[in-house]
Amino acid sequence: MDIITFGDELLRQKAQKIEKISAETAETANKMLEILVRDKGVGVAGPQIGYMKRIFVTCIADDMPRVFINPSILETSHNTVKFEEGCLSVPGVYAQVTRSESIKVQAWNEKGRPFTLEASGLLARVILHEYDHLEGVLFVDHLPEKKREKIIEKYEKNKKK
Ligand code: ZN
Repeated sequence: MDIITFGDELLRQKAQKIEKISAETAETANKMLEILVRDKGVGVAGPQIGYMKRIFVTCIADDMPRVFINPSILETSHNTVKFEEGCLSVPGVYAQVTRSESIKVQAWNEKGRPFTLEASGLLARVILHEYDHLEGVLFVDHLPEKKREKIIEKYEKNKKK
């Protein structure tokens, strides 16, 4: 399973709700977690593998692997933090992105069980980043226009090499 990279239109499309959480959904979630291990990522969302469904997985240090299906961000803190972010779909690009420090998210796991999670710090950041993918939004979209243009220009140049 390959990661789709910047420039592919699929990354700009909105993912669809998963109507029924099945064994197949659980299998897809497992494959996505394997990609994280393989590519040393902290999160990956359906659209990044061309699977246009509302699912993402996270796996950060000191936390268990997590599966989020049909997630809703219920709350975002007014407190924000700036931190360096990257994305498996925009390899080699890192930039400081401002996001809420803590959030509350509701979703279903791969067994079809609903859960609500309060997260802060890196986990909150990764969840917001992956949720964006379901909406066709990339982390570079959060940057000021000039900065974004510069970064994309550099990315395209490196890609050609
Ligand atoms: Zn990403």
